[in-house]
Amino acid sequence: IPMKKHNFSAGPCILPQEVFKEASEAILDFNNSGLSIIEISHRSKDFVDVMEEARHLVLELLGLEGKGYKALFLQGGASMQFLMTAYNLLETKAGYLNTGSWSDKAIKEAKLFGEVVEVASSKDANYNFIPKGYDIPKDLDYLHLTSNNTIFGTQIKDFPEVSVPLVCDMSSDIFSRTMDFSKFDLIYAGAQKNMGPSGTTLVVVKEDLLGKVSRKIPSMLDYQVHISKASMFNTPPVFAVYTSMLTLRWLKNNGGIAAIEELNEKKANLIYSEIDVNPLFNGFAEKEDRSMMNATFTLANGDLKETFDAMWKEAGINGVNGHRSVGGYRASMYNAMTLDSVAVLVDVMGDLERKA
Ligand code: PMP
Repeated sequence: IPMKKHNFSAGPCILPQEVFKEASEAILDFNNSGLSIIEISHRSKDFVDVMEEARHLVLELLGLEGKGYKALFLQGGASMQFLMTAYNLLETKAGYLNTGSWSDKAIKEAKLFGEVVEVASSKDANYNFIPKGYDIPKDLDYLHLTSNNTIFGTQIKDFPEVSVPLVCDMSSDIFSRTMDFSKFDLIYAGAQKNMGPSGTTLVVVKEDLLGKVSRKIPSMLDYQVHISKASMFNTPPVFAVYTSMLTLRWLKNNGGIAAIEELNEKKANLIYSEIDVNPLFNGFAEKEDRSMMNATFTLANGDLKETFDAMWKEAGINGVNGHRSVGGYRASMYNAMTLDSVAVLVDVMGDLERKA
């Protein structure tokens, strides 16, 4: 591929090059069937095998096999999960930790279904840190967290010990670091960061959490319906699920989450050391809460913006503009990003200092 760029986009984003290759081949001819992955029936054995392998790989990689969890590939994005979690789980009262715009949106949806307690919030500080040491009421139906705040570049490092069910939006850091995933009762994540193309959303849910609310739930929004149909209640997004499955296979073949975590730590250390040592850049997030996936930073002197922008574009870098609510820059370094690509960005940052 001529001139493949160093893609720091926040999502949709970089995926492994071999996944792009295999997925594109399957568009033309899937499994030597003479048919495209996107023209075969979703009920065909070939596709049912894809769905089952994807669901299995999720539980295997997260270490959740045989622990009462089911993996589902749904549609509607993580945004649909903001309301679906509340629809299925919120009977009277739920707690939310407000750590960013996505948490805020989840809170807004949950309020349609019951009482919402914001256990803590960093909204007043434009979400540049993760609140800690807050009280969690014992009578919550669940506590909702956002493990990684894509826009602000903060990440929860220590999850609270709770006696209530734990629900977590892991859209932008799932499969990127090891942890005890069995602490969570429901995890959801849009595919378009560490897993695949947009168009499908992963939900991993502990089955015994379900069936406890008194309201009637429409079939398409009911986790139990999707579980009973093996994630095939209606036509699934076949290409998004297939490509996600390829990425999950890639992750497993490359040593799983533990191996990728080591690489992710190296990438994050490389860019954050540059941010800290280079006087032209300021990190946005509080140091102890810095995200390994999305590094947010600004220029100390805004006059250098034009020069810096021209330099990184010249270096073949894409997607480092910050979100409008933070400004500056955001380097997203998802699983498929190489250390070399991060080094290219860090070199450009160093060059700016030498030049300025
Ligand atoms: N949660 C987080 C943490 C996100 O980063 C995003 C999207 N960037 C969303 C939720 C919303 O996801 P979607 O666009 O799939 O609805």
